[in-house]
Amino acid sequence: MNSLAPAATPEPALSVWTRIHRAFMPDYNRKATIYWWSIVLVGALTLLSSVHTLSDEPATAWMQITVGTAIAMLAGFFPVRIPRSKNAFAAGEVFIFLLLLLHGPAAAALAASGEALVGSWRTSKRWTSRIASPAMAAVAMFGTGSLLHAGLELLKSHGLLADGLLMIATMVLAVLYFFVNTVLATAVPLLKRNERLQVRSMIGNFGWIGVAFAGSASLSALLFLTYQRSGIGVLMAAAPILAMLLATLHFFFRQQESDELVRKSRVEIIERETEQAARHMRELEASERRFHSAFTHASIGMTLVSFEGRIVQANLALRTLLGMDDGEMLHREFTEFVYTEDASVLEQQLARVRAGEIDAFAVELRCRHHGGAEVLVAVHCSFFSEPGAAAPCLILQVQDISARRRAEAGLHHLAFHDSLTGLPNRRRFHEHLARALERATADPRRQFGVLFLDFDRFKLINDSMGHTVGDDFLVRVARRIQDSVRPDDIVARLGGDEFAILAEDGDCEHYCVTLAERLLHVMRKPFAIAGTEITTSASIGITISTAGYAKPEEVLRDADTAMYKAKAAGKARYALFDVGLHAEVSERVRLEGELRRALAAGQLSVAYQPLYNLSSGQLTGFEALARWHHPELGVISPAAFIPIAEEAGLMVPLSDFVLSRACNRLKQWQQRDPVFAELTMQINISGNDIAHSGFVPRITRAIVEARLQPQHLILELTENILMARLESALPALAELRRLGVGLSVDDFGTGYSSLAHLSSLPIDSLKIDRSFVNKLQIGSNEAAVVRAIVLLGRSLGKAVIAEGIETRSQLDQLGDMGCDVGQGYLLSRPLLPEVVDVLLDRIVAETARGFHNTAFDRPALFH
Ligand code: C2E
Ligand code: CA
Ligand code: CA
Repeated sequence: MNSLAPAATPEPALSVWTRIHRAFMPDYNRKATIYWWSIVLVGALTLLSSVHTLSDEPATAWMQITVGTAIAMLAGFFPVRIPRSKNAFAAGEVFIFLLLLLHGPAAAALAASGEALVGSWRTSKRWTSRIASPAMAAVAMFGTGSLLHAGLELLKSHGLLADGLLMIATMVLAVLYFFVNTVLATAVPLLKRNERLQVRSMIGNFGWIGVAFAGSASLSALLFLTYQRSGIGVLMAAAPILAMLLATLHFFFRQQESDELVRKSRVEIIERETEQAARHMRELEASERRFHSAFTHASIGMTLVSFEGRIVQANLALRTLLGMDDGEMLHREFTEFVYTEDASVLEQQLARVRAGEIDAFAVELRCRHHGGAEVLVAVHCSFFSEPGAAAPCLILQVQDISARRRAEAGLHHLAFHDSLTGLPNRRRFHEHLARALERATADPRRQFGVLFLDFDRFKLINDSMGHTVGDDFLVRVARRIQDSVRPDDIVARLGGDEFAILAEDGDCEHYCVTLAERLLHVMRKPFAIAGTEITTSASIGITISTAGYAKPEEVLRDADTAMYKAKAAGKARYALFDVGLHAEVSERVRLEGELRRALAAGQLSVAYQPLYNLSSGQLTGFEALARWHHPELGVISPAAFIPIAEEAGLMVPLSDFVLSRACNRLKQWQQRDPVFAELTMQINISGNDIAHSGFVPRITRAIVEARLQPQHLILELTENILMARLESALPALAELRRLGVGLSVDDFGTGYSSLAHLSSLPIDSLKIDRSFVNKLQIGSNEAAVVRAIVLLGRSLGKAVIAEGIETRSQLDQLGDMGCDVGQGYLLSRPLLPEVVDVLLDRIVAETARGFHNTAFDRPALFH
């Protein structure tokens, strides 16, 4: 294994000493270790030399030494522990000192080390101290004992050894012995910690034991003196008495100690209980504080109410809710703030709580705000017992639900009303209608009528001027309708620009017709919206309950049908429903479906009506006109099917078809002969087309695909479409203009174009409406209008085209006025492409023969 771990270095063989050291004295540093070994060695030598010194002693002396040592060791097992202190002293000292006086320091050293062995055995588990303690005791006793003996010998040699001095010397020795022993013993921990000996603190800690030692020593001296006077008997008698005394002391102190323990544990229990009680109190206080803070700062109203119903405390939220300050609320009954009708409900519930029937309840009430307003609240009531309170009270949580209720009412209103106009919606109208139907069924005299209104140009307004204007328009329209009806009539917005009116009356038909006329009249007045004036008209369908209805939807269906009839009849009018109408409407629905398929079926084609330069008589181009060859109905006029296509959303494919066909034809004809290179194609554009987002790309595609030059395509927009969609259409028109595509205003003179607009519009020509041309007679009013238009066009730098020229006189007049281009049945009807081919061939032939190719001389050919 290729490991990066370094190979473990084998541990060097450990010496015996190191092993002993690690096993027994791992906490001993070098100094402490040297000291320990030194003191143990010195101790051992002392003991050996002591034994050696004593070896010459007689057996009786050995007896005494053995007994004294044994008693001292025995006493070590019963230390006299001083109550309320950690200290104890061994009574064996008395015998050790006695041995010292009797047999000298060697004997005392043996006894002292014996006693120390017992003491350390008992108090320590460590061999280091079990070995060192006897050694230290031996050294200390031998040393100090030798000092005493030398002193006593000195006194004796001078004949001064009186009893009193002996006692004092023994007592001094005892203190000295104790001191030396203590110093030797404390040296070990001090060396371990590397600290210095503090003699003063040592005396403070152990001083009293020194005194006890002195006491023991005085006793030993007394015993010694008695022995000297009275012999060994006294000692024999004194030893058991002393032992008994010490034992009694030992047990007395033990008893004291255990009493003390009991007392202490009692105190502890009491202290613990006190602490627990205090903690409990603190917790209670904290929880009370928490409740108080929750109560005070709660966002919903809260009040504590006494069992009798009086307010004890009310939080800020409740005061705000009722618009009162604390003073005004305290001690009053909560029910005082509740509406009288609701107060009884609250009272009943409170009574049930008081009677113990229920613990809590929730009610909704109306409260009175200080300002007088009504506040709808949800109240939840439950018991509340405050810690330390004499009696439980009730806590009421009061939540303002007025806003929620308003929102709910709002939602309800939304579900049944139109959000824009605020009028009832179709659903609500249905409900009204159903009820009216029920009433009419129950009592045939109670007739009702329904008017169905649809605005003729709403889609145009909405698409061209934007939804904001559209919405504004609907709101204004709704207001006008409402201003025109009676208060009891129901006006509803069914959706889009469809409105319905339900009127109940004895002679319903008469009222409905009058109302329809009034509505048509008021709708005619222009609406000033977003800085422009919008004119509109409505088509109104009416149906009367006498037609016999079973369901509301039948009523609406027939009113709708009648409305379509009004539209078909030329808009801005009303129509009454009659049974025959069903057939008409279904015809229209049928056509719509058929038109959808007509495109694919190839039933659509394009006719081309030539346009001529009125001064030169030369062909300038064509107007493309859509044709529908219906398999059963024959050719249908675009005037009839274009509106259907617009409403059915079929305008885009239809326009694309005409565009592509007409552009391709023109290209074909331009290539026929150089004289036709500048021929143009006028194509009609509907409002739907310019509203379509792909308008410009579609036109460009048609031009590119036919490889036409853009200036040869001229788009015709009716004046009304142009003006209604001016803003939205302008960017597209401007772009087309930039591309080079020509723009012409169709049916000019029938709309409301303002002259200011006209000058700035990106248009090339004005096409005077057929109706003016049609009425052109010398000296007539129309002549003046046409002349004005021609002049206007001139001054604006726009070409003027006349359409619908049917007579020579019209042609001449227009020529005289300076009208540039013209078209009409007099010059040519719209032609099939094959016929155009013939026309073009003819022009080429005439040009070749040097004829001045004027169409004016051969109208009959192309009729
Ligand atoms: P417009 O643009 O005013 O087209 C001229 C209409 O007048 C054509 O009717 C044409 O046949 C007719 N007309 C031409 N000369 C005379 C005349 O001397 N006397 C009379 N009384 N009428 C004449 P048409 O083809 O039935 O088209 C009706 C309308 O349908 C057009 O009116 C145009 O607004 C719309 N339309 C026709 N084709 C298309 C089309 O491809 N796209 C769109 N968007 N609209 C079209
Ligand atoms: Ca036209
Ligand atoms: Ca026209």
